[in-house]
Order: sequence, then structure tokens, then C-alpha cells
Amino acid sequence: MKTADIIKCAVEGLDMREAVLKYGITFSRNGFATCPFHAEKTASLRVWPDHFHCYGCNAHGDMLDFVGRMFNTNFIGAARIVNQDFALNLPLDRPPTFKDRLQAGRIADERKRKRDALESARVEYEAALDTWTTLDLYVIEHNPTDRDADFSPSWVDAIKRRELALYRLEEARTALYMMEDAKWTTISRQPA
Ligand SMILES: [Zn+2]
Repeated sequence: MKTADIIKCAVEGLDMREAVLKYGITFSRNGFATCPFHAEKTASLRVWPDHFHCYGCNAHGDMLDFVGRMFNTNFIGAARIVNQDFALNLPLDRPPTFKDRLQAGRIADERKRKRDALESARVEYEAALDTWTTLDLYVIEHNPTDRDADFSPSWVDAIKRRELALYRLEEARTALYMMEDAKWTTISRQPA
């Protein structure tokens, strides 16, 4: 792993949405921020965990691009700023050690683990939604028209299964929301 890769890896380990708060970026309720790269009245900057994009001026890039633009400096200049502001202990004025490489690898693994967890939470939510929708449709389509007649066992069974499916759907939705919103709930807090 080259020094540039170690730097990128460490910086990508930061959640960009949280990190940019340090540079005075504030988010409105709808998740947009006022772009620091062009004059605007309506917030049109969107920040993801790993990149930003401005729908007003098309500024686009990762955390280092952002800092580079903001402080008018290049890759290594931006790395110095981020290194200091986030205490990353990057190997900027020394050759990278085995520990540096190990650390960068760990950050990359952790990031992949989080991405995978989020992805499976999404898959689970969609599957739960699918199951519930199918059962709900079945129940509605087979609603008994004659209230005095005995309910068909398969209809009663579908009602029960729909209840369980709804419970599972709510669980899956909560899990997904918590994962997706974990960072957003902290974003309204300003850094100390
Ligand atoms: Zn802009």
C-alpha cells in the first residue's frame, strides 16, 4: 500500500457528513447544506458518507477534494489539514510503517463490514415488505362477502401470517432506519 492509498483509506474512514460540520457546513432539515463553493440562497449541497455533490455548481468529490477546494490546496495540503483536524496520525513526513498499513487495512475492512450490514438490512426489509404485501393482497382479495358463512381456513391463516409479517416488516424497517439514520441523528448536533 502506497502512502497516497494509506491517506485515502484513513480519510475515507471518516464519515464525511459528520466531518464537514467541522468546516462550518450545516444541514437543513431536508439534508441539504449551503454550498461553500458558490453563492446560493437555496441549499443545494448534498453530502454522503464518502462524497459530496452540489446540484447548483456541480462541485463533486471526496473529503480531500472538499478540503482542498475549501482551503485552496492540493491533495497533500488537504491531507495535512485533515490529518491535523481529525488527529489521523497519517504518515505524511515519514515513510509508512507496517502499523500504518495495518491500520489502513482495518479501516477498509470496517467500512466494508458496515456497507455489507447495511446492504443485508436493505435486502431483509425488501423481503419483509414483499411478504407483507403479498399476504395483504391475498387477504383483501379473499375478503368474505357473506359474513354469516364460515371463514375459509386459508383466509384465516393468511390473516395470522399477515400479522406476523407486519411485525417482521416493522422490525426490519427499524433496523434499516437505525443503520441509515445513525449518522443523521448526530448531524443536527454541532461539534463542540
Ligand atoms: Zn455549489
